[in-house]
Formats: sequence, C-alpha cells, structure tokens
Amino acid sequence: MTNSRCKATAVAKQRGKTDTKGGLSGAAAPGPSKRPVMKISDRDVLLAIDVQNDFCSGGALAVPGGEKVVPAINRIAQRFGNMVLTQDWHPRDHVSFAPNHVGKQPFQTIELDYGTQVLWPAHCVQGSSGAEFHRDLDVTRASLVVRKGFRRGIDSYSALFENDKRTPTGLLGYLRERELKTVFVAGLALDFCVRFSAEDARKAGFEVVVIEEACRGIDLDGSVTATHRSFRQCGISVVGLEAFL
Ligand SMILES: [Zn+2]
Repeated sequence: MTNSRCKATAVAKQRGKTDTKGGLSGAAAPGPSKRPVMKISDRDVLLAIDVQNDFCSGGALAVPGGEKVVPAINRIAQRFGNMVLTQDWHPRDHVSFAPNHVGKQPFQTIELDYGTQVLWPAHCVQGSSGAEFHRDLDVTRASLVVRKGFRRGIDSYSALFENDKRTPTGLLGYLRERELKTVFVAGLALDFCVRFSAEDARKAGFEVVVIEEACRGIDLDGSVTATHRSFRQCGISVVGLEAFL
C-alpha cells in the first residue's frame, strides 16, 4: 500500500531518544537515573489516531488491548501544547464493510479503483456509540478533530489522505498553516491507521515519531512486522513511553 520511501530522519536521535543501534526504541529503556526526557516544543503536535469505542475491547472491530492506549495517551498529552484527534466516521453503506458485499467475510479483500481494500466488520458508523471516543480519553487539549472515511466509496486509513492516496482530509493544510514541524503519532491501530498516517506525514516532509507503547496493532498476515520495516525505511522514529515520563 505504500508507494515511496521517505528520507531518513533523525529527530528522535537529535533529542536523544532513539536507541543507538539504529533500531527501534522502546524495548531497551535506559535506567531511570539516566533517562533523558524528550523535549517537546510548540512546533510539535500529538496526533491521536482513532481512539474510539469500536476499536477497544467489546467494540465492533476491537484491536487487542486497544483501550490500553488511553492512559498512555492521556499521560503523554500533558506534555503537548498541540493535539489533534482523528475519528473514523463511516456511513452505514460504506465500501469497507464486509456486510455490504454479498458473500464476503470480514478480513477478506476486494479490488477497488484505488487498489486492494480489506473488508472490515461494520464499525465506527457515523453517530453511533461505537464511533465515539473512548470515554476515558482526555480530549481537552485537542484543538482539532479530523473525521475520515466518511465518503461511501473510499476508505481512509491515513489521517492525511484517503486510501486513493489523493483525496486530502485537510489535516496537511492544518499542520502547515500552524507551522507544526514534528508529528508524534499514537493510537489505533498501529499497522493500519497509525502506520499510514505516520508515513503520509513523513512523505509530506514532517519529522515523525511513533510512540509505540501508546499504540496497539491488529496484526493481519504479519502487518505489524511490515509496519516496523516500513518505518525504518521511511526514517520514522519509534520511541517508547519512557521518553515522555
Ligand atoms: Zn474504518
């Protein structure tokens, strides 16, 4: 689904937060006594992806442990002056819903004009309780909510462009007008909406940092491994929660 590589970035390294082996941080946290804390400026923005009831336990498309991102994001958000939320927001007849395709089951795929589309259980239907943010998510710092996937015929994993890779959500314009430079990404699901949001932001020229412990993945056919590989190729930094505490 990705179509280009991105230039390498060293944002987290500059701030002293990725591991020194060039790999992904988060697993080997330094001891508490020497732990450097990520500096956050007013050019940074925290992008919290799809922290909605349907992606949490008991929801229509529950990501394993999805609700566990909530306390992590709430804690990280205390550090940020800029926060943007996304909300998956589908009409009931949306093309990505398996029940809208005769003979198809969730997690099968179909071919659309814009490429291969995974079919999902119906989820995040506009105005439904499943589409609401998790009730414990602290939304008070959010200055913008971007709704995506509201066109019947196009799904939207990325917070910046819908799945046709052309239709903008408007977030890119917001980030540029606000002169934000580094996008920190957290939320659900790591291997779909977090991944494509991070990659699109990187391709658009932003420094991008994914906060892995504030994400959870679905992991369809190795998609979490593919996500980590892609992040390395794109120069997207991955950090652990301890960077912010
Ligand atoms: Zn969706």
